[in-house]
Amino acid sequence: MNGKVRIGDSLSYYSESVTEGTGNSKMGAQILDGKVMSEKMRAIIAERVTLLKKQGVTPGLAVILVGNDPASEIYVRNKGKGCEETGIYSRTIHLPEETTQEELEHEIEKLNTDPAIHGILVQLPLPKQLDEQAALAKILPEKDVDGFHLINAGHMLSGTEGVIACTPRGALHMIKSTGIDLNGKEAVVIGRSNIVGKPMAMLLLRENCTVTICHSRTKNLAEHTRRADILVAAVGKAGFVTADMVKPGAIVIDVGINRVDGKVCGDVDFENVKEKAAWITPVPGGVGKMTITMLLNNTVEAAERTLKRDR
Ligand code: NAP
Repeated sequence: MNGKVRIGDSLSYYSESVTEGTGNSKMGAQILDGKVMSEKMRAIIAERVTLLKKQGVTPGLAVILVGNDPASEIYVRNKGKGCEETGIYSRTIHLPEETTQEELEHEIEKLNTDPAIHGILVQLPLPKQLDEQAALAKILPEKDVDGFHLINAGHMLSGTEGVIACTPRGALHMIKSTGIDLNGKEAVVIGRSNIVGKPMAMLLLRENCTVTICHSRTKNLAEHTRRADILVAAVGKAGFVTADMVKPGAIVIDVGINRVDGKVCGDVDFENVKEKAAWITPVPGGVGKMTITMLLNNTVEAAERTLKRDR
């Protein structure tokens, strides 16, 4: 990679295919390996961090964790490890379970004006007494590396430059790594949350796919999914997408993270669907890994923007 990476480069030029398997759907799908893809992307991110440091800027990510949710603690730890691996400065602000809205917002405001911090992330979910939307709205849009601020959601909708939410951004990289021309492809997204389903659909629309969004009130779901050249599952139900719902040769992206008998699994019945699809993401080792990589990327992009602005 040396010599190829410059300040301001995004990962958009990155189109190297990172797959395993035969590509022949009769012999099983190629696995879109989030771990391998992440490692390659993190190497590029680390080079960009080195370039920024040479110009006096160390990209900084602050994560606010409220309470003691074990899953959140694991996510936050993994984010810290990702920062360490790529040379990004990371700071975790751990607040007690009984934190008030005012206290949380005060922490966010301090980080908004802290020049060492380029990205701010509030780990969700928050304890019940706290208003997530109000807290996210306090983050400066340019430091909102999760891409959840309404300003960034608006950019996503209008196709203008803003911060793109990490999970859909990572999923799109995985789809693009197949090398398939996305123009005019039928894409079906199951799930319409603000953090996954809707932005995923918008990104696929930007790529000129014909997009259908399905949800819990969708009638005859399988009739929609069987048309999909690209099928994204973001439901939160283990094994929800079965082989009979999948078009032969489809790209199947499994965003779901579910715990069954202590094991992590996705929304897709992986063992059976991989016999029918042409490409498939595993869980674990798929989209989840890419989400953190995109967070690191968004943090570096935020630092690159400040450098451009201040020079
Ligand atoms: P969410 O807010 O609960 O949304 C789930 C969506 O699934 C909703 O839109 C819901 O429809 C739809 N749905 C539920 N039952 C359905 C059914 N029977 N048929 C069709 N649609 C149905 O969840 P989320 O935050 O988007 O997350 C989805 C999954 O992705 C979860 O497992 C989560 O843990 C995982 N996740 C993974 C990552 C990652 O990095 N890999 C990141 C974020 C989330 P309605 O809108 O009608 O209720």
